[in-house]
Amino acid sequence: RAKAEGRNTYRFFEANMGLEAKERRLIEQELRLALARTEIRMVYQPQMQIDTGIITGFEALMRWQNPRLGDVPPTTFIPIAEESGVILQLGEWALFVACQEAASWERPLTVAVNVSAVQLYSHDFPQRVHNALLQTGLQPHRLELEITETSLIKDTNRALVTLRQLKSLGVRIAMDDFGTGYSSLSNVRAFPFDMIKIDRSFIKSVDKNEQAAAIVKAVLGLGRGLGLPVLAEGIETPDELKFLAGELCTAGQGFYLGEPAPMESFRHLIHDRGQIGGEVVPFKRGSAG
Ligand code: C2E
Ligand code: MG
Ligand code: MG
Ligand code: MG
Repeated sequence: RAKAEGRNTYRFFEANMGLEAKERRLIEQELRLALARTEIRMVYQPQMQIDTGIITGFEALMRWQNPRLGDVPPTTFIPIAEESGVILQLGEWALFVACQEAASWERPLTVAVNVSAVQLYSHDFPQRVHNALLQTGLQPHRLELEITETSLIKDTNRALVTLRQLKSLGVRIAMDDFGTGYSSLSNVRAFPFDMIKIDRSFIKSVDKNEQAAAIVKAVLGLGRGLGLPVLAEGIETPDELKFLAGELCTAGQGFYLGEPAPMESFRHLIHDRGQIGGEVVPFKRGSAG
C-alpha cells in the first residue's frame, strides 16, 4: 500500500510541474540512501552506424525506482543530485558499473557514460576514471564520456585541462546534446571531442520540418569539415532515419532503433552479428559494411 501511495504522490509532483522545496528535500533525502538500498540501476541504449545498422556501442542511462516516490526520471533527480552533491557518488557508481558491464561483453563495443558538470569540475575526476578502468580492466578506448557543451562554459580553462587529461588516458569524449544551451561553434574545435551528438530536439520530425533539417545538415557539415563523426539522438521514426541516412549522418540512437533497457535484452545482439534487424535499416549504402 505504501508503494501505491508513493506512486500517486509522485504523480502529484509531476502534475504540479516545478518541484517545491519540500518535495525536493524528500527526493534529496531518498536519493542519499538510494545507492545503498540498491534502488538505482543502469539501463543501456544501442548506438549504431546508420549506413550498416551495426551496433557500435551502448549509452548507459541511470534509473531510480523508489518505494515512496515510484520511478523518478533522471531529468528530475539528476539536477537534485547535482545541487546536493550526491551526483559524485552516483556518477562514480555509474562509471564503475558501466565499465564493468562493457568489460563482460563478447565484442569490444563502446560504452558511453554521461558525466555531470559537477563531476567534471571535481578535482580528481580523471583519476577516478583511471581507477574505474584499472578496476574493471576495460580498455580505455571503449569508454566514451558524454559531456554537454553547457558544462564546458562554467570554466573553459579548467574544462580544457581536464578533457586533455581524460584524452591522455585514452578514453573517447563525446559532446552531448549539441545545439542546445549556450552553443559556440568554436567549442567543437577548441576541445578534444571525438564525436558530436546532435540533440534529439533537432531530430524530431527532421524529415518534415525544414528548420530542423537545416540545423541538422549544418551540424553534419560541421562534423565533416572537422573530421568528427556525428550521432543523431532520439530517432523515433523510419522517416527520420531515412533522412539521416540520406544526409550521410554517421551514427544514430533512438527509440526506433532500441529503447533503453536492461543489458540482458541486448546480449543476443552482441552475441549474434551486432546488427539491428534488416527491416529497421533498409538503406544500406554498401560502402562501410
Ligand atoms: P542524455 O544524455 O541526452 O540521454 C539521452 C536521453 O534521451 C535518455 O533519457 C534517453 O532515454 C532519451 N531518448 C533516447 N532515444 C529517445 C527517443 O527516440 N525519443 C525520446 N523522446 N527520448 C529518447 P533519460 O534516460 O530519461 O535521461 C535523461 C537525461 O538524464 C540524459 O540525457 C542525461 O542528461 C541524464 N542522465 C541519465 N543518466 C545519467 C547518468 O548516469 N549520469 C548523468 N550525469 N546524467 C544522466
Ligand atoms: Mg547522453
Ligand atoms: Mg547527457
Ligand atoms: Mg543527449
